[in-house]
Amino acid sequence: MRKSFFLSFVFCFTFLFQSCSSLNPDESDINAMALKAYNEVKTQAKISQNAEWTAMLNRVAPRIAKASGKNFDWEWMLIESPEVNAWCMPGGKMAVYTGIMPVLKTEAALAAVLGHEVAHATKKHGKQSYARAIKGNLAGLVIGATTSIGGQLLCKSESCRLLTGLGGAAAGFAIAFFDRKFSRGNETEADHFGQEYMARAGYDPAEAIKLWERMGAASGGKAPPEFISTHPSDVTRKQNLTKWLPEARKIYSKAPEQHGLGQEIK
Ligand SMILES: [Zn+2]
Repeated sequence: MRKSFFLSFVFCFTFLFQSCSSLNPDESDINAMALKAYNEVKTQAKISQNAEWTAMLNRVAPRIAKASGKNFDWEWMLIESPEVNAWCMPGGKMAVYTGIMPVLKTEAALAAVLGHEVAHATKKHGKQSYARAIKGNLAGLVIGATTSIGGQLLCKSESCRLLTGLGGAAAGFAIAFFDRKFSRGNETEADHFGQEYMARAGYDPAEAIKLWERMGAASGGKAPPEFISTHPSDVTRKQNLTKWLPEARKIYSKAPEQHGLGQEIK
């Protein structure tokens, strides 16, 4: 009895100690965890062979990256998956899932999605949501961050489950990143800067409004697509994007190249 108490004490202490650095990470810790997680996704995910969509992502991603003005170590991939999803990890590692492409309908809508996701990374929302996840679920995150089984239990999404096998801080990061809920303030900021980035990249900023309409329609009253479930879609968002449109149009008019809506996505 006494021995098992002692062992569980050592067990817990070791796990807590191992996870200490992941509980209060600085930007370079976060970027290192993101890089590890990204490389794992790249190894495990099926990369799309759709030449047209891959070429489109290869056009849009560097334009948005440049428009953000951040000197990240940018990387992107198109994942073959029915998931309606896209993300940009802290440090500039992006992924778009093929499931989102038919919902987008235009290249400019892809620019709007990437602009929004990149803005979460440039404005460091990942670190804030990580801190919130830790505060809200300290014990859970410690277990998740140190054991694969703990991570499996805590993950709500497939993308998260994919990474819990890593264990350690990268698994804790996966839980905080993939099952994240950004605050409303973070979402509004990402919408604002996302629209600015797409305009500077030469895409019609009015398409950002259409994008969220299409996302809402894609859910068809059933369970919302993953992208929507982590991104609140509401009247305020549309009102904001409409309010910011004149300012974004000015930026668009000064863009070195104007691509309008770009290519249609079929
Ligand atoms: Zn968002």
